[in-house]
Amino acid sequence: MLHLRGRVLVDDATELDEVWVVDGRLTLERPRGRRVADATTTLEGWVLPGLVDVHCHVGLGADGAVSAEVAEAQAVADRDAGTLLIRDAGSPADTRWVDARPDLPRILRAGHHLARPKRYLRHYGRELADVADLPAAVAEEVARSDGWVKLVADWIDRDLGAEGDLRPLWPDDVLARAVDVAHARGARVTAHTFSTEALPGLLAAGIDCIEHGTGLTPELIDEVARRGIPVVPTLLQVGQFEAIAAQAGRYPVFAARMRRMHARRHEHVRDLHDAGVPLLLGTDAGGTLEHGRLADEAAELVHAGVPAADVVAAASWRTRRWLGAPGIAEGAPADVVVYPQDPREEIAVLAAPRAVVLRGAVVAGG
Ligand SMILES: [Zn+2]
Repeated sequence: MLHLRGRVLVDDATELDEVWVVDGRLTLERPRGRRVADATTTLEGWVLPGLVDVHCHVGLGADGAVSAEVAEAQAVADRDAGTLLIRDAGSPADTRWVDARPDLPRILRAGHHLARPKRYLRHYGRELADVADLPAAVAEEVARSDGWVKLVADWIDRDLGAEGDLRPLWPDDVLARAVDVAHARGARVTAHTFSTEALPGLLAAGIDCIEHGTGLTPELIDEVARRGIPVVPTLLQVGQFEAIAAQAGRYPVFAARMRRMHARRHEHVRDLHDAGVPLLLGTDAGGTLEHGRLADEAAELVHAGVPAADVVAAASWRTRRWLGAPGIAEGAPADVVVYPQDPREEIAVLAAPRAVVLRGAVVAGG
């Protein structure tokens, strides 16, 4: 029996003094017939529902799919950093085996990223030669996902030569049909987007979430806020735009745009927050970024001007609710993280959890 005490943060409005773990599940009252002395382990501090990374690619490396051993190491790095729930934002590897591993974080999959040949990173996505195949491909990815589909909505078009720049991958009518297909099957759709040009089509189609969102203009931000569509700013990824631009010398228009978006990334995120857009935390780990860096993304958001209390809520209970996953509740799986300090007052403490508890087992620290 595990005893967690101190400040147990349930949601924005609710705080408890203690919770208990019996048979891997949370109980909010001391189990009948048990005494405090019966606890085999007591953990004290600020107790939060396990952290959530909504843009994290388990099974993806710099050159595409990785082995199960590497995917496991990625998942362990996330877990040890307190990330106990992942919405993978597309993975070329089949990670379904993770579900049978009680020691690994829970993953809500989005199937394979849907892209076009030469219009995304090689070996990352499923490439459709004919854009008209997108709705059918969405139906197939819904079948292998856990309720999410990931579209690559824009990428550099190198066929434009020196004028090469970000361009949408899909015609608006195809996008609209594709999103309808997902919604009809009960799935939600998110989209990779760096550009401004891809956004009107996505919004018209009824997109459910926006990844990166660096091209959002003030008018589009107002629209996204009005509709309550969450944006995942992935500041660690956007922090690499300068380096991406530096390697794109043959495409000066593209490079200049990436540099502009890089330079104003923090101001941009503050604009999103000020407009009331729900912001979610995504590390974009897998590919080129390391796993286990959710605390760094949180610190970047705070640096951009988002209040730490909002960042912590988004990293934990708020996003769990949005994804339909339990947080701290009677009978819920005991997936929690314990910190020595209140992360709403000192965001840096997210990088140093005192203990990580997954399905009632202390898997790190403690
Ligand atoms: Zn990504």
